[in-house]
Amino acid sequence: MRRRLRPALVVLSAGLVVTACGTDGAGPTTSAGDADACPGAVVDVVVSVGQWGDVVEALGGDCASVTTVIGSTAVDPHEFEPTPGDLAAFEEADLVVLNGAGYDSWAADAAGNLDPAPVVLDLAEVVGVEDDEHEDDHAGAERAEEQGGEHAGAEGHGHGGVNPHVWYAPDLVQRAAEAVTTELGGLSPAAAGHFADRAAAWREELAPYLAEIESLRAAAGGRSYAATESVFEYMAEAIGLTDATPEGYRESASNETDPTPGDVAAFESLLRSGGVDVLVHNSQTDGGVPDQLRATAEEAGIPVVEVTESGTERGGSFVDWQLAQLRALSDALARRG
Ligand SMILES: [Zn+2]
Repeated sequence: MRRRLRPALVVLSAGLVVTACGTDGAGPTTSAGDADACPGAVVDVVVSVGQWGDVVEALGGDCASVTTVIGSTAVDPHEFEPTPGDLAAFEEADLVVLNGAGYDSWAADAAGNLDPAPVVLDLAEVVGVEDDEHEDDHAGAERAEEQGGEHAGAEGHGHGGVNPHVWYAPDLVQRAAEAVTTELGGLSPAAAGHFADRAAAWREELAPYLAEIESLRAAAGGRSYAATESVFEYMAEAIGLTDATPEGYRESASNETDPTPGDVAAFESLLRSGGVDVLVHNSQTDGGVPDQLRATAEEAGIPVVEVTESGTERGGSFVDWQLAQLRALSDALARRG
């Protein structure tokens, strides 16, 4: 499926620019640490994608200067190609934080080309979701099993068979954050106490998000959803919603190929028959078929929940973004009765 950003969203994002640092709506954003307030050395961190930028900033506090390369919500991370300016951001990095799982291999390459090499933290690898292209399939499957990673090996869209959208998995988000705190403390040991405080504050910030997921788990028993894209899959799994997306459509969406007319017809008939409780629609990309499915759901009285690949506000809060989507899902399930 062709991915193209929705012009309306670009306009909306431009109106919501709140981060400073002289950015013009594209290119990296930087949130500077505060050497006077930090009890140790300020760590220079480069984060590849905006989904993790806010999390790392919150965890770094005064003791990290965080540059997020894809800071703009108007850039599709799946089709990103770094400019020389984007790559220059890596030169000063002590720590590079990647999503991994093939989602941002350009950033792994950029970090790998540096001498001396910065510390690289691949979050997907930390949480056991790995890109098969980089390893023996069998070994990968075994490792996933050992780690009890129900997420590993799940299908993803266009990333060598794994679902790279690990920021949509609440347990993985928490484990990834712990890994960030550990790396920061390793690079600036005198600031370890500051990082521990930041981690505690962030867990507190995360509490309403986890509470919403808990209440959704209670509401989701026996309920199902269908999705126009796989981006929300880990969260739906965590909540316990059954994925009723017709198989053919689901596979084509995972591989970013066009669904066949038969796949689309199967999806539409599912919606018309009221066979799912909600339709999850990715509003950050444009596409005739997803739009058509949304219209069909609306006609059939199936609530539509809009989700996005990345936060809808440049430099916006991860928790606010996720929580708004979760509340929309709660409302949709309640409407459905
Ligand atoms: Zn995606």
